[in-house]
Amino acid sequence: MKYPDARHYLGGQFVAGGPRFLDVHNPADGQVISRVPLGNAATVAAAVTAASAALPGWAGTPVKERVQVFFRYKTLLERHIGELAGLITEEHGKVKGEAEAEILKAIELTEFACSLPQLIAGEVLEVSRGVECRLERYPLGIVAAINPFNFPSMVPHWTIPNAIALGNCFIMKPSELVPLSAARIAELLKEAGLPDGVFNVVHGDREVVEALCDHPGVSAVTFVGSTKVAQAVYRRATGNLKRALCLGGAKNHVIVMPDADPEMASGGVLAAMAGCTGQRCMAASVMVAVSATDHIVTRLAEQARTLVAGRDVGPVITPMAKARIEGFITEAERQGARVLVDGRGATVPGKEGGWYVGPTVLDQVRPEMALAQEEVFGPVLAIVRTPGLTEALAVENASPYGNACSIFTESGGAARAAMEGASAGMVGVNVGVPVPREPFGFGGWNDSRFGVGDITGKSSIEFWTRTKKITTKWNREAGTNWMSK
Ligand code: NAD
Repeated sequence: MKYPDARHYLGGQFVAGGPRFLDVHNPADGQVISRVPLGNAATVAAAVTAASAALPGWAGTPVKERVQVFFRYKTLLERHIGELAGLITEEHGKVKGEAEAEILKAIELTEFACSLPQLIAGEVLEVSRGVECRLERYPLGIVAAINPFNFPSMVPHWTIPNAIALGNCFIMKPSELVPLSAARIAELLKEAGLPDGVFNVVHGDREVVEALCDHPGVSAVTFVGSTKVAQAVYRRATGNLKRALCLGGAKNHVIVMPDADPEMASGGVLAAMAGCTGQRCMAASVMVAVSATDHIVTRLAEQARTLVAGRDVGPVITPMAKARIEGFITEAERQGARVLVDGRGATVPGKEGGWYVGPTVLDQVRPEMALAQEEVFGPVLAIVRTPGLTEALAVENASPYGNACSIFTESGGAARAAMEGASAGMVGVNVGVPVPREPFGFGGWNDSRFGVGDITGKSSIEFWTRTKKITTKWNREAGTNWMSK
């Protein structure tokens, strides 16, 4: 095997796991490259013990000192970008440019954490003669973050730098499908000077997730993954009186108006549907083509045919995912959709064991079809036709999800209608993947997010801290009134 067994990381030490293990595959060729141990409640308890030992020292360190770790960590991410991206490509399959983009985003997220001292300075006001009220922020304690497979490094960085810079001790639960990047994150944080026990990694599946939700020593839980599990984790964590923020799945609509710039629209929609092989919660999944847009559909299909599996588009994560995605396409075709570009059965010479689905475009998809309603999580675009923007927004609004919605148009009025009318937390105008850049927070609406606030940006400050309101009076001679006796 190319890599030794993944290990838990507790109190600054790598610890072998077992007895249960899962194989880790490279989806590009199907080869087994490592094994991941599946922890349990005892592993979670050991992580909490390690984090508890580190907490007083770390929480008591001034924030300006804490962020020095992240200034150094950012430099380490920059120095190791090639190696870190290579590891992502091996465990996840995504192509080099996409893997590097993950690390660039991790760097940007770390940069935001470095600016936290500038953002969290408290508030103070003389509320009566000689009486001051001040607001101070304190960490929550020990917190946990549960991660999905589709971004082995970027999604963990949504939470690691901010939660830790704000004084919390942290337990990361990587996806068992992509467990390898976590060890390098741990090593680089240690090299950057993070004290042992502040950052811990527990590998595992449902058992570890439930133990994190149940352990009384864990104060807050974040989750990113599918909606069904997001709901279960939100219920369990909040049922145990923890703070929770759980991001779920998505079904993102891109509305294309007839006046849209054809190149910008076709290129933008294609990148949004095929980028990361469609395995992102911001992927464009349904294109709502409004009225006379045949020329844009034709151009999009032409461009989609030029994308090569294995070069431009990576594999999907498992053979089950490939079968599921191809099943959606076949079912829609049987129900009357027209397959314009067919990625079923894609293979890559020399990598016949890989799990590839090529970019696929289907026209004449009806809104009630499963392809138009369910999260496919593959490089598949369902084109739904509507006569006007009102009907297009009605299609978008009918989805229970609410991560992202974009519109391609040259009309300010149409753009404004989409900005206001979309039932989604992130909206794009002539931008296919409207991921907010820092300091704007990332987070959807409806069944794409459970809990209050966004997971990144300024919103994360509220999530990872609690405020203390302090009233002081030092001057005995000060005048008194009903508020200051
Ligand atoms: P998933 O829900 O299968 O797994 C996510 C995490 O939950 C993993 O760590 C896994 O070990 C754990 N898990 C799985 N089943 C569980 C169960 N029954 N009980 C408790 N824990 C369980 O998601 P995935 O397949 O890894 O990731 C893809 C999904 O994540 C897609 O739906 C995608 O849209 C979503 N996602 C959402 C966002 C967002 O910001 N909204 C971002 C990235 C991914």
